[in-house]
Amino acid sequence: MHSAHLIVPLTSSKVLSLVNTQIYLVFISLNRTFVAGMLRLDQDIKYLQGVGPQRADLLGRELSIKTVGDLLTYYPYKYIDRTRFYRICDINGTMPYVQIVGEILGFDDMGEGRKKRLVAHFSDGTGVIDLVWFQGIKYIAKQYDLHRPYVVFGRPQPFKGRLNIAHPEIEVPSTPPEWGRTPVTEGIQQALFDEGTALNPPPFGGDGGGYAFRPHYHTTEKMKKRGLNSSVVAKLTAKMLEMLDETLPETLPAFLVSRYHFISRDEALREIHFPTTADNLRKAQARLKFEELFYVQLNILRYAKDRARKYRGLLCPHVGKTFNDFYYHHLPFTLTEAQKRVIREIRADMGSGRQMNRLLQGDVGSGKTLVALMCALIAIDNGYQACIMAPTEILAEQHVETLRHLLGDMPVRVELLTGAVKGKRRREVLDGFVTGTVHIAVGTHALIENNVQFAHLGLAIIDEQHRFGVAQRARLWTKSLNPPHVLVMTATPIPRTLAMTLYGDLDVSVIDQLPPGRKPIQTLHQFDSHRQTLYTGMRRQLELGRQIYIVYPLIKESEKMDLKNLEDGFEQIRKAFPDKQVSKVHGKMKSAEKDAEMQRFASGATQILVATTVIEVGVNVPNASVMVIENAERFGLSQLHQLRGRVGRGADQSYCILVTKQQLSDDTRRRIQIMVDSTDGFEIAEQDLRLRGPGDLEGTQQSGMAFDLKIANLAKDGIILQMARDAAQQVVEADPEENNPANALLWQRLRELRKTNINWGSIS
Ligand code: ADP
Ligand code: MG
Repeated sequence: MHSAHLIVPLTSSKVLSLVNTQIYLVFISLNRTFVAGMLRLDQDIKYLQGVGPQRADLLGRELSIKTVGDLLTYYPYKYIDRTRFYRICDINGTMPYVQIVGEILGFDDMGEGRKKRLVAHFSDGTGVIDLVWFQGIKYIAKQYDLHRPYVVFGRPQPFKGRLNIAHPEIEVPSTPPEWGRTPVTEGIQQALFDEGTALNPPPFGGDGGGYAFRPHYHTTEKMKKRGLNSSVVAKLTAKMLEMLDETLPETLPAFLVSRYHFISRDEALREIHFPTTADNLRKAQARLKFEELFYVQLNILRYAKDRARKYRGLLCPHVGKTFNDFYYHHLPFTLTEAQKRVIREIRADMGSGRQMNRLLQGDVGSGKTLVALMCALIAIDNGYQACIMAPTEILAEQHVETLRHLLGDMPVRVELLTGAVKGKRRREVLDGFVTGTVHIAVGTHALIENNVQFAHLGLAIIDEQHRFGVAQRARLWTKSLNPPHVLVMTATPIPRTLAMTLYGDLDVSVIDQLPPGRKPIQTLHQFDSHRQTLYTGMRRQLELGRQIYIVYPLIKESEKMDLKNLEDGFEQIRKAFPDKQVSKVHGKMKSAEKDAEMQRFASGATQILVATTVIEVGVNVPNASVMVIENAERFGLSQLHQLRGRVGRGADQSYCILVTKQQLSDDTRRRIQIMVDSTDGFEIAEQDLRLRGPGDLEGTQQSGMAFDLKIANLAKDGIILQMARDAAQQVVEADPEENNPANALLWQRLRELRKTNINWGSIS
């Protein structure tokens, strides 16, 4: 886009006013720094009244809130509507929260010892509800008067045929004192049902209790134990906003604020914590979400452009003898149309003179390994080496085998480098890399260690990218003077919104077709109490000569317990199938031992493989047609899809059995159902994102990016994300030299953000 695009609609006076705004902003931000006694955003949080060193320590360790500014952007995760009042006769035990107004008829001490509690019988004339305290019993009864109006807020729960609210929030209504004289029943009801009564609170005073929407903040167990709960965080936030009584500086340039009719940053930040109306809350959310996504996108696009300018791509224009020899004489089957298209796209990139950064997405079993090999051959034809980095040793080893098998007697040297390759062998391999006699290096993270050098690395392929972080990807570029072309492959289809953020700097190719002749895998859900049915099904498949995987979850925190599950399962299977050979593989085994077992299964010497998720990625045994997943409820959808992809690789009908306990939450039931209903990885990924949110998706933890979003939600804010990306794209294209004064604020802000966010810095 041409740079005029942003400027043309602005008259010169508007441009002037933009410049003015910025001068003004600089002025106030300078000013703030020098006002003594006033709270500044970069100030240590301990100086905020009500915090102090101990709470500061807790906030820092539990929520990473170290400065006033950190607290300012620690947003509520929900709001409780305090404009609504309920009549006690309308309340039932399923309501999450209710607000009622009435009077205390009397107190009762109940229970003995540890069950001792104080009960207040609370009535609004339509019914009675019990307020219950288990702590602070002595002081509560003294604190409240009988027959005086109170507003009570809390979660109603049925208890012995009555409703009660444990540890309610209680307030004296903030409106006129004559209420005290009005008969409790009608007078107060009338006054408070009148909409707007709870609105128009004093600006940011008190604890926010009088606000229409009460903010709720996530706090940790440790914080709660030490009295730092959501309502205390709300109080501190209210205090902070009061102290920050000057306008909070604007961080979006004026042209964006006016283009999208955003409210100011100052208003947005105040409204996001203590919304005055539902509409204002929505405006605040829209503005802050946009801003957050805009800078993420600006960062990605700005530095991708920079990189494209800085690095010249290694030229790989030829398709020569190696590629053609393979294509005409060694390729064991016809490429799918999708594979052909993707190879063409990659070939064009590699020959273009620009450095390639491409994401190759293809569902499990779509044939990405072959594509990787053929691209490596192009690099070799142009005098370069290629490397393939895999997330596990097993996968790396399997790649070496697959490649050597496919290449047959061709003069292409493929070598493996993992942590397990040691001593003399390691020296030989490293020597082959650095002298250039090794054409294709295959390995794990070992490939990006500092001491690994290549003669002329032309193409770096990262398999199962979701297992690696952005930073690791970046390290590959340091492997030669000019960075190699980079192809990252993933079998975990990534929803579009997530891809835009996680891999926003990459071009995307998709293999949207499976090799011919595959039968869709049939997925069944089975309760673990029906083990005999499961075994009968398994036996039938074994009799047909097929092999079976049984996978147990592995969660780091309870590794011992997981291992026990696996061992027990192994014994159980041996007993149930005494005439069959059973293998066992898990991450704690020595690598050689693990390999030997995998090998036994791959060769058909064993019929059943009991394993943890070490087999999740890449393993290829076409004769295995059944995948049994134990404790399936403990896996994410994408992971289940990956595991399922281990079967269905031959021409036989394959099955995936999801075994769960009988008691499942609605959410889990839904997730299992999605797996039963769909074999489409993209659909599953979308659903997974919607159900779990991006923070839990594989890949996001490592890359840190989506994870760091404070307010935007990639599962829900696709439209805002697209707007933000378009806006960022326009800015990057229209202002490549970063000298348009209208954008000064924006580039400044981007630099600040890159300084404070390590993950952002790794995009470069
Ligand atoms: P993934 O994309 O999951 O990495 P693989 O590369 O492991 O998939 O391929 C899965 C299986 O499909 C392998 O056994 C491979 O040999 C086979 N395959 C790949 N491409 C084709 C093709 N065009 N026709 C038939 N089989 C293919
Ligand atoms: Mg693969």
